[in-house]
Amino acid sequence: MATVAEPLEQVKQRIDLIANEKAREEVDSGEAKLIDVREPHEWDEAHLEGATHVPQAELLDRISELVPDRSDRIVLYCRTDNRSSRAADALQDLGYENVSVVRGGIVGWQEAGLPVVAPEGLTAEQRMRYSRHTLLPEVGVDGQVKLLNSKVLLIGAGGLGAPSALYLAAAGVGTIGIVDDDAVDESNLQRQIIHTTDRVGVPKTASARASIEALNPDVKVVEHRTRLDADNVLDIISDYDVLVDGADNFPTRYLLNDASVRLRKPVVSASILAFDGQVSTFVPYEGPCYRCLYPVPPPPEMAPSCGAAGVLGVMAGVMGLLQANEVLKLVAGIGEPLIGRLLLYDSLGTRFTELKVNRDPDCPICGDAAPEIDESEMGKFPDYEAFCAGAPVLR
Ligand SMILES: [Zn+2]
Repeated sequence: MATVAEPLEQVKQRIDLIANEKAREEVDSGEAKLIDVREPHEWDEAHLEGATHVPQAELLDRISELVPDRSDRIVLYCRTDNRSSRAADALQDLGYENVSVVRGGIVGWQEAGLPVVAPEGLTAEQRMRYSRHTLLPEVGVDGQVKLLNSKVLLIGAGGLGAPSALYLAAAGVGTIGIVDDDAVDESNLQRQIIHTTDRVGVPKTASARASIEALNPDVKVVEHRTRLDADNVLDIISDYDVLVDGADNFPTRYLLNDASVRLRKPVVSASILAFDGQVSTFVPYEGPCYRCLYPVPPPPEMAPSCGAAGVLGVMAGVMGLLQANEVLKLVAGIGEPLIGRLLLYDSLGTRFTELKVNRDPDCPICGDAAPEIDESEMGKFPDYEAFCAGAPVLR
């Protein structure tokens, strides 16, 4: 009887280890059932053609369903041939009479130059780097490839943009654009964690690029060292799949909203002040837009800036990462985005509140009667600075 404590050499004496070529012939002819007993991330990296994946821990529970007849031919393999030998031994104990193990496992198979099935679209390094993503059935290799092919634009490399950018970069978002015309200031470092003390005075886009490139060389960073305005907004956002609004002023938020509705680009929008934050996802025509939610900016006295009122640094992380989470879901096409929902976070009470937000049929931008904008008028927005006169910074 096999036990975990029994030396492997002893176990292997009871196992029929077969050569690659023999295993291949048996599997190709349909004579044998080939089972890979490794862990899911190993399977995802590469496996043998025709194999069924059953991690060793699940094998005994699933074998009677997979191979009901105990006299049927079974060939097991693992990375070398240790785990598969123990697994074969356990099957023999269960009464399976015709079990063999591929000598040398998939490592020996590859060393012999025999073909394996490797997922397309990811390099060996990427399969390793993103293995904790690809292990998730909802993401998988396909989802990771979508992330690597995606283009995400961050409006602002400040409190919200900093944590978003770092996690989106770590997640392997292939192109990250950053719009910001500020330089790093010492007072930013309490929450804008993408920047560092030695980069005070450096443009924020350049500082963010340095951190992102150090974290993940897969990411292409595009610096837009400017402010969004009516002349450049359509050009800049048209290249991207998802926009992350961490703007520090109302004119930019309204401008971004109107342009994104016209180009049908989803916007993940958040804001923070003191101990409170809010986040929502605006997907044009699927749910409300920013202007459905806030038809006009609040008067200045109702919306003090972080500079004037302060903000708990960690709020930037909490809300910025909720934004990053929304982006990853939108890109991978999974889960339930915050469309038509406004999520409020009160950090002092540690409470989340969700409000339902409907599209406004009278919305001047996405409403039923909103005017058609033809090509020649694209980008000719109202005077946002006047519209939002005196509107404060909110970030
Ligand atoms: Zn609207």
